[in-house]
Amino acid sequence: MLKSIEIPIAASVTVSLNNLAREKAKKEQVHNFAAGDPVIACHPSIMMKAKESLNLSYHMYPPVKGVLELRELLIHWYNEEYGAYFEIEDTLVTCGGKMALSLSLQALLRPGDEALILSPYWVSYPDIVRLFQGVPKIVNTTPEKNWKVTVEDLKKALTVRTKVLIINSANNPTGTLYTKEELKSILQFAKENRIVVISDEVYSEIVFDGHRFVSCSSFEEFKDDVIIIQSCSKNFGMTGWRVGFALAPKEFINVIAVLQSQSLTAAPFICQKAAIGALEKRKEVSGLIQEEIRKRRDLFLLEFTQRFGVSLQAPVSSMYVFVSLKDLGIDSMDSVWFCEEVLKKGNVSCIPGIAFGQQGYVRFAFSESEKNIQAGIEALQKACKIIRSL
Ligand code: PLP
Repeated sequence: MLKSIEIPIAASVTVSLNNLAREKAKKEQVHNFAAGDPVIACHPSIMMKAKESLNLSYHMYPPVKGVLELRELLIHWYNEEYGAYFEIEDTLVTCGGKMALSLSLQALLRPGDEALILSPYWVSYPDIVRLFQGVPKIVNTTPEKNWKVTVEDLKKALTVRTKVLIINSANNPTGTLYTKEELKSILQFAKENRIVVISDEVYSEIVFDGHRFVSCSSFEEFKDDVIIIQSCSKNFGMTGWRVGFALAPKEFINVIAVLQSQSLTAAPFICQKAAIGALEKRKEVSGLIQEEIRKRRDLFLLEFTQRFGVSLQAPVSSMYVFVSLKDLGIDSMDSVWFCEEVLKKGNVSCIPGIAFGQQGYVRFAFSESEKNIQAGIEALQKACKIIRSL
């Protein structure tokens, strides 16, 4: 019986390609541009707090909404750094930003409700929407407009079933960063049309070249209609610890806390303690991550220009660059075929643009060490030469 069970969604493409690359890596060297995992040693403050927690002999269930000290540090971060208006009851600690997003969509969506998703999108949005019987409505953006959506684009996608809009600035996979004015007009549109905005801000601290991240929580007039998704994964280089957050009006937090209590129960205590270590030294920890990732971005762009003769536009945030197959000298739009070929021919792993809703593109993560980036681009160049000659 169990062998015939099916579900309406697929495993995340990034996870499955990453697994494929890991399998290959058991036998030979694979150049990993697929995973958005900042390969940087964990900050001592994170490790120290985790070790301390072992000595506390705390073996009980943690509170469903999270350890108080962590929630306090979280609102301090948001209110002080991003000009938000949160109180302690407006926060929930969970296992990663993905779980915060999943709980929020589970609470919001009823069968047939539509969620506006801006393409290129983070790979998991459409599937999580489908998982809760919602309908993903994809709104395309273009490189000519810096991959940004306008209110006009949103108006065209609006129907009576539109319930949610998911926005992701700083963006995976393009690095696009919305300005305060742009966010304000989007939030205004959402309010007028009774749409809840889920603002995925998990790359908020990884912003380069003097650009400024603006949080959707910095507008007091929209605070009742916005859910913030946040995480320790990228900003503090803690993907494996699985700590993330939802910030929203306390009434909504109470609802998703019920969902959490009936599923996850709570994020593990030791991981929450490690997150306290990160947030206590927030500026230092995220500053180190940001600087390291910026160096890797610059190296990636430099190597790319030297080997492909093309200068890519530097992404102003996140840890990815979204490259057209044309810029790789490939005369095809089939991004899945390309990613399979570079893995086979050059042991290079990257993610096809179609996983983010855009054919003809590939996403490269520049989160690996500088040595690996250099070797990876060399292998990419060789593989592209072979592919072009096929
Ligand atoms: N949102 C975006 C845009 C992401 O890129 C990711 C991870 O890659 C997540 C959310 C989830 O991150 P985590 O669950 O590790 O916090």
